[in-house]
Amino acid sequence: MTDLHRRNPYRLPVLLLIALSTVVGLSILWEFRLEAWVMHWLALPYDADFEDAERWRFVLTATGFSLISMLIPTIMLRRLIANTRSSYRRLKQAQAKTETLATYDSLSGLINRRIFMEMVRNQLGLKRPAAVMLIDLDHFKAVNDQHGHAAGDIVLVEIARRLEAIADDNGGVAVRLGGDEFCLLFLKFKHQTELGQIAEAAVFQLSAPLSSAVEPSALGATIGISRSWTDAQDASALLHCADTAMYRGKKDGRSTYNFYDSEYEKQRRAQADLELALRRAVEADEIVPFFQPIVALPSQEVVGFEVLARWPKPDGSTAAPADFIPVLERLGLIPAMTRSLIKQACRAANRWDDHLRLSMNVSAGMVTDALFPDQLLEQLRQEHFAFHRFEVEITEEALVGNLEVARQNLSKLHEHGITVALDDFGIGYSSLYHLTRLSIDKIKIDRSFFEPGQTDHLPMVEAILGMARSLKMQVTAEGVEEFHLPHLPSWLANSGCNYAQGYLYGRPKPASSLFCYTHSSFAQQAG
Ligand code: C2E
Ligand code: CA
Ligand code: CA
Repeated sequence: MTDLHRRNPYRLPVLLLIALSTVVGLSILWEFRLEAWVMHWLALPYDADFEDAERWRFVLTATGFSLISMLIPTIMLRRLIANTRSSYRRLKQAQAKTETLATYDSLSGLINRRIFMEMVRNQLGLKRPAAVMLIDLDHFKAVNDQHGHAAGDIVLVEIARRLEAIADDNGGVAVRLGGDEFCLLFLKFKHQTELGQIAEAAVFQLSAPLSSAVEPSALGATIGISRSWTDAQDASALLHCADTAMYRGKKDGRSTYNFYDSEYEKQRRAQADLELALRRAVEADEIVPFFQPIVALPSQEVVGFEVLARWPKPDGSTAAPADFIPVLERLGLIPAMTRSLIKQACRAANRWDDHLRLSMNVSAGMVTDALFPDQLLEQLRQEHFAFHRFEVEITEEALVGNLEVARQNLSKLHEHGITVALDDFGIGYSSLYHLTRLSIDKIKIDRSFFEPGQTDHLPMVEAILGMARSLKMQVTAEGVEEFHLPHLPSWLANSGCNYAQGYLYGRPKPASSLFCYTHSSFAQQAG
């Protein structure tokens, strides 16, 4: 209530009455006393014989006019004041509403992002501590998807109330940053242990069943914590640190909390850089094929090459598949890389003697993709590369996923003259079922069978060779090295092994270094 509202309601009539009485009094005084005296004093002619009735009429007229001249402006003034007052009230209300909207999130009633940033900025500007606990709900999208946005809003409001309670208990401020992202802000120094305890309690409390009708099965929260005294000194950076810590929790399986860790951030950035560089490398055919010779036994003549992916770096080093294949796998870029390698390898091999074959490693995902055979055949046609010069190397892992599609794909390739080799044989599932039911032409015995000091593995190699012979499959021994000389190559040849591959015959090399193998005029027997 304003002062204006509290004023005495009789004030105006009383004032009017006083004014009126004054006018009447003054008129009477004038008519009956002062007029004669003033006229006389001014030496003006004056008729003192006026009748009293005349005088009273003058008093009444003067009073009437005065009354009217006072009432009309008073009424107008009152109206004006009333209008001004209500406009002022409306302005104040609008102002208050704007302020509320600018400060609080309209759904949850919590402080909004803008004010949160302002609070942190002020705090840090005064060189005072701030800790940010960024909270992202787990599986909230499922609530919206399954129950609709209205239900989602109810859940957000309930979560907001819980956060408010946690903030009140721990001297913090609850904030809604937007969507299902909330924050607890602490503007006093808190020890790491205490922050950890608050975060742990928050994870627990936010995962508790909701009282609202909506009952999502697995709502939870993942929290990232950053502190001005260790992590960042400006508001945006502090929030970013909390976000990084939160993201780590999301990757680690959610419903957990993490403090910001600059070392982890560095690794994550390096990983992101690597991913970007790899995307570009695949697109620009910068992942190149290296070729490792495969020799026939017993002649030890080079009959073909296994294509092995390499990534030459700007610093002159060359990355091996173990450094980038898993990343490409995660990014879903293995098919793109394989396509690029096939293109480059075929173009190189088309310049070689045409008895030389190419062996290409094909990932599990590709072998079990129904589109794979046609895409491969089409690419080989485009590159004018004869199907019978091409081999795919698959691992048994590829056969576990979707055996039926793999079986159909391999049959199709086989029908077109492309051979199929089962790679790393002997260390995986090695199911006889795979060997007998699938179009497999060749087994590559894993190089671990020929590691130094593993002579007790040779009986197993013998058994594999015997089995392959009965199944009419060919065999390549992998990992034949210098130190195996002179016995292993001849032992393998005598035991019926068809091919050998390993450092003894050559390391993987770029196409430009293969001239001595690939042109018959220079062809030599390796080993
Ligand atoms: P892998 O198919 O078993 O390839 C043979 C690996 O053994 C190659 O390693 C080769 O350099 C190495 N090697 C060959 N001879 C010897 C030897 O005498 N001694 C020893 N110690 N090692 C030898 P690399 O090139 O590092 O390739 C590793 C794996 O990466 C390959 O194993 C293959 O599974 C995968 N890979 C390579 N290139 C590709 C590709 O283009 N596509 C796919 N999907 N996988 C690939
Ligand atoms: Ca291979
Ligand atoms: Ca192998």
